[in-house]
Order: sequence, then C-alpha cells, then structure tokens
Amino acid sequence: MKWSWKIGSVAGIGIFMHWTFLLLLGWIVLMHARQGADAAAAIAGVVLVLAVFGCVVLHELGHALTAKRFGIRTRDITLLPIGGVARLERMPDDPRQELWVALAGPAVNVVIAAALFFSLEFTAGLMPFSQAARVGGGFASQLMWINVVLVAFNLLPAFPMDGGRVLRALLAHRLEYVRATQIAATVGQGMAILFGIVGLFFNPMLMFIALFVFLGAQEEAHHVQLRALLRGIPVRDAMMTRFTVLREDDSLAAAVRELLAGSQQDFPVVRDDRVVGVLPRQDLVRRLAEQGQQARVGDVMRKDCATAEDTEMLDGAFQRMRAANCPTLPVVRGGRLVGVVTLENVGELMMINSAYQSAVTRGRVEDIFKLEG
Ligand SMILES: [Zn+2]
Repeated sequence: MKWSWKIGSVAGIGIFMHWTFLLLLGWIVLMHARQGADAAAAIAGVVLVLAVFGCVVLHELGHALTAKRFGIRTRDITLLPIGGVARLERMPDDPRQELWVALAGPAVNVVIAAALFFSLEFTAGLMPFSQAARVGGGFASQLMWINVVLVAFNLLPAFPMDGGRVLRALLAHRLEYVRATQIAATVGQGMAILFGIVGLFFNPMLMFIALFVFLGAQEEAHHVQLRALLRGIPVRDAMMTRFTVLREDDSLAAAVRELLAGSQQDFPVVRDDRVVGVLPRQDLVRRLAEQGQQARVGDVMRKDCATAEDTEMLDGAFQRMRAANCPTLPVVRGGRLVGVVTLENVGELMMINSAYQSAVTRGRVEDIFKLEG
C-alpha cells in the first residue's frame, strides 16, 4: 500500500503502518491532553496506544496464519485507523475457508479480552466501561474494553470489515458468489451512510471511518464482479493482434521512436518470435534518463513479466499480470508471440460488455487494475 512505513515482520510477513494510523494515535493523545492529564497519565496513554497497536497486529496475524493453513500466503499487513489489513495473495474460493479466515481475526481479540476479564475478575480490578473510558482508568480494564470494541466493530457486516466477509461467506452458501458480494457490499454501504450521518452530529472520526467503509465496500463489489466477467472470456478475445515489438539489440533511441510513432506504450521484446522480456514506457523513460539513448533494450528490459496462453481465461491471466506488476501481458501460442493484452483494451472490452452489464465501466476497470509504481 502507498504511504506506508515498514515497522517489522512476523513469520515472514512484513508489517506496515499507513500514515492515517497516525491520525488515530494523534486523536488518542489529543483526548488525553484535552482532559488535562498529567505526565504519568500521558505516559500510560502512550503505553496503552502501543498495547492496542499490538492487539491489532495479533488480530491480523490471526487472519494471516489461518489463511496459511489453507495454503494462502500473506503479502503484508498494514495498520489503518479502522484496524489492520492483511493483504492475502488471494481470497479462499471456498466460502467455508473464507469464513474461518474472517473469524480468526476477531477471535484473537475475544481471547485477549477474555484473558484480561478473568484476570481482572480474579484481582477484583475490573472497571465498568464508563469508568475505564476516562483518562487514568485502569490500564488492563481499558485494554479489555478496547478489545471488546474491536470485536464489535470488526464484526459489523460491512466491507472491508471482517463482518462483511462473514456475511458474504454465509450468503455464498445459498447464493452465487457475485450476488452474495453485491448484497454484502450494499449492506456495508448502507451502514457506512448511517455512520456518516451519526458522525456528522456526534463524532467527526466516525465520518472518516464511514468513508473508508463506503469505498471499501464499493471496491470489493467491483472487483468480484470484474473477476466474474473476466472468467468467461478467453485471452485471445481480448488481445490486440496489431502491435509493435522490439529486439534486444535495439537502442533506446529506436524504442523512443516507436513510442512516439504509435499509440502503443509498452513493448514486448522478442528473439525469433519468442518473448524474452517487456519494455514498459515507465521503464523506458527512466532508463533513458539513467543510461542514455544508446543503451540496449536487452539490458534494460524487464524479464519478470508474466505471459499468457491465448486459450486461457482472462481472470487468471490478469491475476498474474497484477502479481508481476507489469502493464502489458504478452500472449503466446505454442511459444510464439501472437498478441498483447493491455489495461486499455480490456477496458474497451468491458465497455462493450457493459452494454448489457452496466455495472462495470471502463473507468472502474482501469482503477482496479491500476498498477502501483
Ligand atoms: Zn480483521
């Protein structure tokens, strides 16, 4: 995710903090200051913030390690104000697995809250919510209540909250996946609007969360819809068959001439009709600045871009294209280059499709497949 800092890693999973998480921390600090807390209370506040931070990381690890049991790796974990996001390589296709993965996060907070509850009961140190919510309330009580709130909040049936996934998984037992997602997303957006209105009157932070939820629900719905659409289309129906290629011995100057001469932005590099790399426009421009016009295409091209067979379906091909973070997908038949798929021509295909599937528009397609970098 953009605008995130790496703060560590657990079990080979990088843990990042999104800058908006600082807003949450700032808000907590501000609450302390506004209530006229002294230095000791302020330090206790900071410790509490760090403890909450730890609980959120454990929550995400709950998701990640459950997914790992189903053979799904986690790319990274990012901390946001509404909680964390564990970016799984893919979602489980089986709704039952998705249900377990979604529930594992809140389950961690249930365990933490229960452990704190029983130890507080034992020491008679338990404070009611109203008392613990005040600055200087007992640390363990505060942490327990925060975990209770985390569970309740995460189980709201709204994407991108875990409750949204739970709802979708439950609906998907009886309905088609796309339909289940649409319903779950609509419920999520309805809740987001409700949050927004409540936030308007009581708490601006809630409006901020509402926006997050609304966009998250929308993105999830579009993404699933798009994947379902792409699933039925073979790569050969979406590929461009008129395109320009480069050779390894071409100079960057020649590549620039091709770039300026036509509408093509990213070029497959071939040797005897076989794809050996891709030179995207971004790389071409950057390398030109670094190494000058006379550099060889073969020395600067990317070799890690995916290719697709012309008979395979677009959804799988596109997933690989995104994973490789490459703007062009060379299409091969029997090892020979026969076409290229780009974001633009899939966008065009979607426009044609949207004549009868009005939900997905070209703009959204490009948004969803916007490649980072
Ligand atoms: Zn979660």
